[in-house]
Amino acid sequence: MIICKTETALQLLLKNKNQQPIGFVPTMGALHKGHIALIEESKKQTSITVCSIFINPTQFNDKKDFEKYPVTIESDILQLEQAHCNILFLPSVEEIYPNGLSNLAQYNLGFLEEILEGKYRANHFQGVCNVVERLLRIVQPHTLFLGQKDYQQCMVIAQLIHLMQWQHTLKLVIVPTIREASGLAMSSRNSRLSTDDKQKATAIYKALQVIQDNYKKQSFPSLQKAAEGILFNSGFNKIDYISICNADNLQPIESYSTSEKHVALIAAYFGDVRLIDNMLLN
Ligand code: AMP
Repeated sequence: MIICKTETALQLLLKNKNQQPIGFVPTMGALHKGHIALIEESKKQTSITVCSIFINPTQFNDKKDFEKYPVTIESDILQLEQAHCNILFLPSVEEIYPNGLSNLAQYNLGFLEEILEGKYRANHFQGVCNVVERLLRIVQPHTLFLGQKDYQQCMVIAQLIHLMQWQHTLKLVIVPTIREASGLAMSSRNSRLSTDDKQKATAIYKALQVIQDNYKKQSFPSLQKAAEGILFNSGFNKIDYISICNADNLQPIESYSTSEKHVALIAAYFGDVRLIDNMLLN
């Protein structure tokens, strides 16, 4: 694997690859099997896989969350080597934001920015769009691989691709969430939980399963109440949302209907660690 730290070095390298299809996996590092599933999918579907590791300061609405974000670069490089990733792009903050961190671009994300993660993490998706637009302009991939784990983020990036009018040149592939054997969705933030707390945090998956098992026969408010009980009884101390939405546009829905696809989404705190997860219901 070749490691590039600058736009110039990366573009020089890619210029010599004769237009082979490039797959791109943007990450913030602290890699786990969820990230590696994206690399593997890119290896299957494209000729050159580029992974980026960049902890994007502009997408953290909580300064402490940014400061505590895990950094495990040696283990990351090893895992990428083992997955046969071709190129690791490892830029500095100055490389991504040559004009500094203020005066960032603003994107019209409409309703997507007002709900769920958008509502609870002010400006988070503006930061995500700024970094992803910059990375896409640098890497110029043919296919972008994202994880379903960040369901709303996938929709935001689809909107970014639309806003940039890249939909004819850039394919978006969404890879299903990779979970621990316990059901807990793999996440870089899990490393901030003790083994015992990780076990308790599986409640977020159990709550989603209860919603999935019962959403055709129980009212949505009663399902949300049941999910809330499961989370609080297992040690979650704060819930941002337990939401059942239309899977195509994330509009909240009140009751089961056969004509729509549904997704349940949860964001909750275990101590000061904020976890998110989601499950497609039909
Ligand atoms: P992050 O490093 O958390 O920004 O994630 C980088 C990419 O990996 C995003 O597209 C995530 O949705 C994806 N990802 C993170 N965790 C998982 C997981 N457990 N399964 C599948 N994809 C994931």
